[in-house]
This record gives sequence, structure tokens and C-alpha cells, in this order.
Amino acid sequence: MKTGRRTNAKPNETVERELMLIDGEWTASGDGRFIPVENPAKRGIVIAEVPRAMETDVGHAVKAALKAFESWKRIPPRDRGKLMLKIATDIEAQSEGLAKTLSLETGNAIRTQSRGEIALAVDLFRFYGGVASEQKGETVPLGEQVLCYSRREPIGVVAGIIPWNSPVLLGALKITMALTVGNTLILKPASDAPLAVLKMARICDAHLPKGVLNVVTGSGNECGTMLAKHGGVRKLSFTGSSEAGKTIMAAGAERIVPVTLELGGKSPQIVFPDANDDHVVQSVINAMRFTRQGQSCTAGSRLFLHTSIFDSFMDKLVKKLSSLKIGDPLDETTDVGAIINRIQFEKVCNYVKDGLEQKGSSLVLGGLPPKEGPLAQGYFMEPTIFTHIKNEWRIAREEVFGPVLVAIPWEDEEEAIRMANDSHYGLAAYVYSHDIGKALRAAHTIESGWIQVNQGLGILPGTSYGGFKQSGMGREYSLEGMLDSYTQRKCITVNLQY
Ligand code: NAD
Repeated sequence: MKTGRRTNAKPNETVERELMLIDGEWTASGDGRFIPVENPAKRGIVIAEVPRAMETDVGHAVKAALKAFESWKRIPPRDRGKLMLKIATDIEAQSEGLAKTLSLETGNAIRTQSRGEIALAVDLFRFYGGVASEQKGETVPLGEQVLCYSRREPIGVVAGIIPWNSPVLLGALKITMALTVGNTLILKPASDAPLAVLKMARICDAHLPKGVLNVVTGSGNECGTMLAKHGGVRKLSFTGSSEAGKTIMAAGAERIVPVTLELGGKSPQIVFPDANDDHVVQSVINAMRFTRQGQSCTAGSRLFLHTSIFDSFMDKLVKKLSSLKIGDPLDETTDVGAIINRIQFEKVCNYVKDGLEQKGSSLVLGGLPPKEGPLAQGYFMEPTIFTHIKNEWRIAREEVFGPVLVAIPWEDEEEAIRMANDSHYGLAAYVYSHDIGKALRAAHTIESGWIQVNQGLGILPGTSYGGFKQSGMGREYSLEGMLDSYTQRKCITVNLQY
């Protein structure tokens, strides 16, 4: 392990300590304090510790990133792209170790989730590495005597703040988009899941000049706030809850720095009567991200089923979900892992209790977690479905961020779309029908940033991804997402007659 200047903190003998990356050095925090990282599948047993960054650490990181920016921005985009491609190869070579760490800290099942997440991170490095030369400007036809052209220039030091649910994927996203176009980055992973991100940063660090990528660890209230408010940071890129997103936007407003927000969701799935089959049942399960314990911003957690197919579709759905195996995330036979931490586990349980208390609601699968037996050894919850739910109820309006699906019947298309749009969120949506005209009419009317028709898959590089309404602003994952969110245009007008 490469260590840096401030590693004199007394080590805790029992758990592994990972350090953070500042100015090309692996370092502890200035005051030597650490925070624990827990294993959710073992009810929070501490598996490692990471530094609790203090203000001076964030300051060092910003200073290093500012210094590195001066030379990094001058490297031709194609050469920065080549570095992204080299990093991709090295991440791929270490993917199994990364996937294990990711499963240990997040509780996500290695077979159904973590390996795929690492593979997608590799894809992102390849995608953005490949399109690096597309950082092109335009010429403006102002006349024969004038040359007017624009350049897409990097913005400066970017702060990338990410949540725990897909840390490697989202970390890779911030790194690739910010760095490929010449910015430098300070990445802050969530305190619940910093380990795999730090491992990925070690791989990146071997290829990048010092200070180009920095990773600071700590809580949102401390480290995240210090980063968002730091005067040297010129761009805020935040993925997380809508609530925290509002404070990030306020911090950006204070200094007029551009802000990208990828926030929460309560995404609808609309099933038309002609789509009552096994493919759609499986797609609904995929879209609800049940094998990620529903802990996905794009989870299709409101299922609008036509009344004519409600019961038979529900029978098939319950049967299929009942066959999923819940348990140890590192077990190759496990489909569904654990909820991230005790607070989130209790929050999801409270939503289930709330659903049970609503007059007329009906629990058709899952419910409150077992108090005894193997599943009680970790923060495990079964896939849970409520029917006879009203779209106005809390459980149908708020983001549960757990494996809880609510099913709501509908009679006519307009009613289904009105209910789907009756939400302050607008991230994703899913529509199922063999009648493609009908499905596309619905897709064009739904107020969401990303709509899938007849599938419930995850995001792929190239897709322009981002939210409507309180699900966010700005786009990521795509070429134009990188260009629009991570560069600024400069226009130059030249008098050719002089
Ligand atoms: P969160 O908002 O609590 O935390 C996200 C990150 O922000 C963490 O690193 C946290 O430490 C930091 N943070 C929290 N408060 C902060 C503050 N005031 N200032 C600066 N930083 C702060 O979210 P979470 O619980 O980690 O993740 C779940 C949420 O993330 C859900 O709402 C989910 O929908 C959302 N999410 C959105 C996307 C997307 O692409 N739209 C992707 C994944 C997750």
C-alpha cells in the first residue's frame, strides 16, 4: 500500500484501514480520525475504517486539484482518452476483487449486482476514453471577413459527491466525465460505501498525474458540505437524495457555480392489458431492481396494472419473486442481498408498517423482516408488494429506496398517465404493450427523463440520463451529457480584415 504524509494515526489493530487520495498521496486525515465501514449482511460488523476528512484535508485536495488543472487541461483530449482506456483495462483485470469489496460494503449480491456494476464502470472508461476527441467547438458563419468559432473548455475543479447504492459505477461516471474533458476532480464517496471506490482510485492513480483525481472520505454533513462550499470548486456534480440535492444547489447558488443533480425517483411502470405475460413480469421485477433490494434511483416502484389483468399478472409476479434467494451477498446462489445500514433498514420497515396501517391496503408478498433465523443476522428484507394502494398515500408518493412495490389498478389510459405523472419526481418510467403506437404515446406524455418500452434494464453508456422535476437537472452517461455538464463554451470572434 502506497502511503503519504499524514499516516501517523494510531492504527486500529482489528480492521483494515484504507487511506484517502490527496495530491497523489495516500493519506490519513489531518487529525488522524477514522470512521468505520460496516458489513450490512452481518448487521453492521465493522469491516474497515477510512479517514474522516477535516477542513484542512478538503482544502489540501482543492489546492492540489487547482494546481493539477493548469497542466491537465493542456493535454490533448485524445491523450486523456488514452489514459481512460488504460485505466479500463486495469479495472477489468482487478474486477473480481473490486466486486467482492463492493458486495461486502454495500450488501449487494455479487452474482446479480456487483460484477455487473464493475463491468459497467469499465464500459464507462472505454466509452468516454473513445469519444474524448469529440470535445469540439463550432464555427459561426458571420461573413467572409470574420472568423467566429467556439471552444469547449474545461470548467476547473469539480466536486463529485456520490451515494452508496452504486458507488463504483457512479464514481467511474464522475471520474470519466470530469477528467476526459480536462477538469480535475475531488470525489467524495458515501461513508457507507467508500472502499471499492478507493480501490478503483488506486488503479486510476497509477495512470494519472498527481492532483488530477483526489478522493476524500467522510460524512455528508462534514466533508460533503465543506466540499460543496469551498471557493476553489468550480462545478458541483451531485448524485443522491433530492433533499441533499437542494442544499447542494443552494451552495452552488452562493458562488454561481454550475450544478448537476442526479436525485431520487418514484418511477411508474404502466402495464397495458395486452402485456400480461412472463417477459413483462420479469421486466417489472428487473425495473423494480428487486435484486438490488430496490435501492436504485430508477426503481419502478409504482406498478399501474390494467384492472382486466390485475389478478392474473399479480399471481405470476408473486410466484416469480417468491423463488428469489435472499442472503449472503458473497454466496454465488444468492439473488437478493442486504439493505445498506440500520437507519435505511428501519426507514424501509417504517414504510411497510405505514402500508399495513392504511385502510384497505393488502400485503400480497413479503412484509416486515423476520426477527429470527438466518435472515435476521443481517439487514435482509424480502421483496414486498402491496395492492389496493391509492396513489395519494405516502407509500405511493415517497421514495422508499427498499424492496417495496405498490400496485395500483387503472381503467383507462388517461387515468394511468395522470397517476404516473402525479409525482414530484420524474426520473424513469416503464411502459409495456405490444401496441407500439400506444406505448410511445404514453412514453411521450409521461414526465420523466428516461422511459423504457417493453424492458426494465439498467442504464448503458451513451444514453442521455437525468431527471425531470425534483429528480434532478443536467444529463450524464452520454457524450452530450459530458460536454454540456463538464465544459464551458468560449466564443472567439476574429476580424480577418485587420
Ligand atoms: P444522500 O443524499 O444522503 O447522500 C449522497 C451523498 O451526498 C453522500 O456521499 C453523502 O455523504 C453526501 N451528502 C449528504 N448530505 C450532504 C450535504 N448536505 N452536503 C454535501 N454532501 C452531502 O443519499 P444516499 O442515501 O447516499 O443515496 C440514496 C439517494 O440517492 C436516493 O434518493 C437515490 O434515488 C439517489 N440516487 C440517485 C441517482 C441518480 O442517478 N438520479 C443514482 C443513485 C442514487
